[in-house]
Amino acid sequence: MVFRLSCIKCGKHLEEKENSIRCPSCGGQVLIDYDYEQLSSTASKEKLAKTPPNMWKYSFLLPLVENSFVVSLGEGGTFLQKAERLGEELGIKNVYLKNETVNPTGSFLDRGVSIEVTRAKNKGYSSVKCASRGNLGASAAAYSAKAGLGCTIYTTLGIELGKLYQAIVCGAEISFVKTYDNAIRMLERPYKGEYVISVTNPFFLEGIKTTGYEVCEQLGWAPPEFFIVPVGEGGHLSMIWKALKELSYVGLINDTHSKMLGVQAKSCSPIVDAFAKNLDKPAKSKDFGMTFHDIAVRQPMLGELCLKALRESNGYALAVSERRILEATRLLAKCEGIFAEPAAASTIAALKVALEDRIIERSDKVVCIITGAGLKDPAAVKNLIKCSSMGAPITLMLTSSLDSRLGKTKRLILKILQRRPNHGYLLWKTLTQEFGLTITLPSLYQHLQELMVAGLVTVTHEGGPSERKKKVYVLTKKGEAILSSKLNKLYQIY
Ligand SMILES: [Zn+2]
Repeated sequence: MVFRLSCIKCGKHLEEKENSIRCPSCGGQVLIDYDYEQLSSTASKEKLAKTPPNMWKYSFLLPLVENSFVVSLGEGGTFLQKAERLGEELGIKNVYLKNETVNPTGSFLDRGVSIEVTRAKNKGYSSVKCASRGNLGASAAAYSAKAGLGCTIYTTLGIELGKLYQAIVCGAEISFVKTYDNAIRMLERPYKGEYVISVTNPFFLEGIKTTGYEVCEQLGWAPPEFFIVPVGEGGHLSMIWKALKELSYVGLINDTHSKMLGVQAKSCSPIVDAFAKNLDKPAKSKDFGMTFHDIAVRQPMLGELCLKALRESNGYALAVSERRILEATRLLAKCEGIFAEPAAASTIAALKVALEDRIIERSDKVVCIITGAGLKDPAAVKNLIKCSSMGAPITLMLTSSLDSRLGKTKRLILKILQRRPNHGYLLWKTLTQEFGLTITLPSLYQHLQELMVAGLVTVTHEGGPSERKKKVYVLTKKGEAILSSKLNKLYQIY
């Protein structure tokens, strides 16, 4: 479709370049727009009703060049589930769940990535690269595999394992860096033939807006009073709001009365804080070691856009505690059969708070966006199970099978840590020089990450100003127990 790149700050129109994210004149975010007046004469509810559910059915509002072929794994067209049992539990009748967990790699990001990889393939690029907290990497890996493109992902050791495994199995090259900011810096100078996938890229953003189109069509073009959306970088909420405005410009809905409600976790809530203080930019936020990485974003790259969408829509921003998020994850699964990742279930926690605080009335129609699947985050799953009646036997089972599954390298790492706590690099030197193991430094960090998830190793920080603090790996009591095989005796009781 004919489209145009424009700066949202100064309004300047830009040439279409593959990676034009920021306006060269003022640094504002670049977005895509269309000739809505012309589109209003062709947009037709009847035509759309005849097309099967799929995000590409809205291609008249997507930035595709003519004759481009689409790299698709079947993204979008996800189910809008009426949450009757959950609604009964919370005391509200009209709650709907937009179940994005059923996207090809289990998250809404597939919508944006399919547009990006489609562009990369059509324009003759040979590989893609991205910085990822988790879900984006898993998605980029899958779509580039489908397109036959190479894929490099820069990520940190904090990445949730399910997402890391997805990316590795799809053949992506994983490069571990110290912080997410470092990962972003790795994208600054791509080589010829490398396409950078970014959550701030206007083309990516056009893909994720389709969630908004689908919800409206699924509700018979009668948008809800509230959209509740988890906020990490702030893109999804901003783009659902853009989608609503576009549908009204082309005459598919009558008005944009919907309010956007953004959710963050209390441990990292720069958008919620900025909204409360009436700021235009995200507030400075501390990171209190929050575990849900996809919404723990200290400096959201689309924060300004998100705050604008919240204000324009007369919306709200709410922070909820991690405890409430985990409770909501269980409630959502138990009442509606959707096992979401905690970041996604935060919308249910927010709905509960918003009802208690009368932000949302019990007569309102509400859509919660369930952004990603639960199995991606084994550590959070374990926390959920621990608190259930099956907690004790499952924990024992996991530890027991873990003991028998520990490979040679992990046993050696535990033994070295039993002698004394160690830095990653020194640990690697001991393994390679003293024990003659052939292992790369990144793969040692991968082993350490897995040992940490299993609760056998933990990390402390040593001396110096905070920037230069070194990570020291320490054996936990559980790790000690595995080595001294105390647990083996425990099992015999059972
Ligand atoms: Zn500008």
